[in-house]
Amino acid sequence: MSASARGPELVVLGAGSILPRAGYGSSGYALELEPGGPLTLFDCGPGTLRALGAVGFEDGLERLERVVLSHFHLDHCLDVFALAFARHNKALRRVPPLELCGPVGLAALVEGGAAALGRFARDPDGTVREVALDDDGRGGFDCAYGRFTCVRTGHNREALAWRLDLTDGTSLAYTGDTGPNPAVAELARGVDLFVCECSFPDEAATANHLTPRTAGELARQGDVGRLVLTHFYPGLSPADAAAGAARTYDGPIESAHDGSRHLLRP
Ligand SMILES: [Zn+2]
Ligand SMILES: [Zn+2]
Repeated sequence: MSASARGPELVVLGAGSILPRAGYGSSGYALELEPGGPLTLFDCGPGTLRALGAVGFEDGLERLERVVLSHFHLDHCLDVFALAFARHNKALRRVPPLELCGPVGLAALVEGGAAALGRFARDPDGTVREVALDDDGRGGFDCAYGRFTCVRTGHNREALAWRLDLTDGTSLAYTGDTGPNPAVAELARGVDLFVCECSFPDEAATANHLTPRTAGELARQGDVGRLVLTHFYPGLSPADAAAGAARTYDGPIESAHDGSRHLLRP
């Protein structure tokens, strides 16, 4: 297979939480549709820009066209202000128009950031898309390369899980932060790649995060092609997480770490 026929790949920029842990930074994921092509970010926690360089996307700011946020907890969104600041930098050869997408409240976040941090915290050539939800907590929009859909997870007031169906027929879903929630499994139904948070060990389960057992259950309920576990807090070993999820999901399981790469269809 030639490099250009590789197909879409998700590159993990941050597979951890807000707590310091070697190799596991705050949430960020870059979807590369084709080698050297446009990038879409899912979440943009602190360290995301730094991680773009670390994974080899030193031209990432010149290729980034869309950022899709799950929710406004700082470990998932804080670098949107660093990103705006960076996009003002004259050293960039080109700054493509950027669409920032997320829950209702995103425009207020952007405005508030600029009010607190100054005009360079506002994107020089960006648009904000707040995704309104229907009565069932679902929303979506079309773009040049596919269709995004989302569902409210209940993790906090605004949190969304996202699905992207690409025009080439491949698909992925990203839980953002969620507890056990059948609506998230339904969103992810049949996707090629299911990127699923797995915050805590089973014995430390909470209502608004997942554990190996409940992450595996979501993957099984959604009948997904492959499960990628991520968003590990320091108390959970990624290897133990994969072993635990295998007790409730019998498909392929990968554990994310900063810099790990996951083809939508290997
Ligand atoms: Zn959160
Ligand atoms: Zn989180």
